[in-house]
Amino acid sequence: MQLEMSLEGIAVVLLGEADASRQAVLRYRRAGAALAHFDSPGAFMAAVALPARPGLVAVVGCLSSSGKKADDGDWAPVLDHYRSAGVPIVREPAAGPRGHVTLAGGGPGSRGLLTVDAVEALRDADVVLFDRLAPWRELERLTTAQLIDVGKLPGHHKVPQTEINRLLVEHARAGANVVRLKGGDPFVFGRGGEEAAACAEAGVPVRIVSGISSSIAVPAAAGIPVTHREVSHCFTVISGHAPLTPAEHEHLAGLGAAGGTLVVLMGVANLPHLASGLRRAGLPLDTPLAVVERGHQAGQRTTVTELGRAEADTAACGNPAVIVIGEVVRLAGLGSHAAERSELRDLAASLLDA
Ligand code: SAH
Repeated sequence: MQLEMSLEGIAVVLLGEADASRQAVLRYRRAGAALAHFDSPGAFMAAVALPARPGLVAVVGCLSSSGKKADDGDWAPVLDHYRSAGVPIVREPAAGPRGHVTLAGGGPGSRGLLTVDAVEALRDADVVLFDRLAPWRELERLTTAQLIDVGKLPGHHKVPQTEINRLLVEHARAGANVVRLKGGDPFVFGRGGEEAAACAEAGVPVRIVSGISSSIAVPAAAGIPVTHREVSHCFTVISGHAPLTPAEHEHLAGLGAAGGTLVVLMGVANLPHLASGLRRAGLPLDTPLAVVERGHQAGQRTTVTELGRAEADTAACGNPAVIVIGEVVRLAGLGSHAAERSELRDLAASLLDA
């Protein structure tokens, strides 16, 4: 379980083999429990000082996610003893496998848009490498793993990709269960493919946990559906990181003119170049354009304009932001709860910062 409660001073008996219990032990210690850990029934029997009546018994590795009755194995007599004494028993998942890497998508930055698989991977990790688009502020609450920030810190250089690849392999080879937490989905402009390849090349098993990509979720946070019946029947996600060629502008303008939605990531700095390129390629000046900054995060802001005056109207926009171009932008604000929720988020963030 995710221990968000305080167990300060409460006697907890934790039963489970040492390796499988390594993260549960840290979770209970962090929650303040007075912990007695036994890694075998023999060690339990031999103990001289057992808590007379613990507040809680936790048993590791017998978790049955399929809803089947858990098999308590050799611990059954011990558990029966505590059960009949009325001590509550909780079950803890076994730690993650050693020497593995999980590339997990963290979604656009809010805890609610992490997947269940990502939360479980974090819970079971020994080491987490994260960057700043992932919901990194939540990590202290979601994992007991060693946290390594490989994102850009103000005034610092970003850790180069080759170094990230090297760290993943090095920690896995040292026997850790490693999670690489990335913003959005790991395979959408996230260099996740390169990280997976680096692990595979080094013989390190790697698992992919898909995430909710900002390319869909950030427009949605502003109430913009990337497709809408009779408005847009396709959407194209592009990187605006490098300036596009005239041929690429023409191709995109063609898609836009045919009713397709263009979604641009990493495009704020190059927006003037993109907008003028699309105009030159014939996309009408009154094509709606939105910039959604900090989607699903505190300070979320949507700027709606048209292709013809995009540069002037979006001059104050900054990263991270998703640009949406196409008729679907006229639907902005769909889901009236979107605005309220972002106000609530801002309020919560200001309270937390205070
Ligand atoms: N793998 C990520 C994208 C990585 S590229 C994904 O699937 O979402 C980084 C770009 O994603 C940013 O420059 C920005 O364009 C976009 N982005 C990610 N999170 C965002 C957020 N919360 N709000 C606005 N844009 C975001």
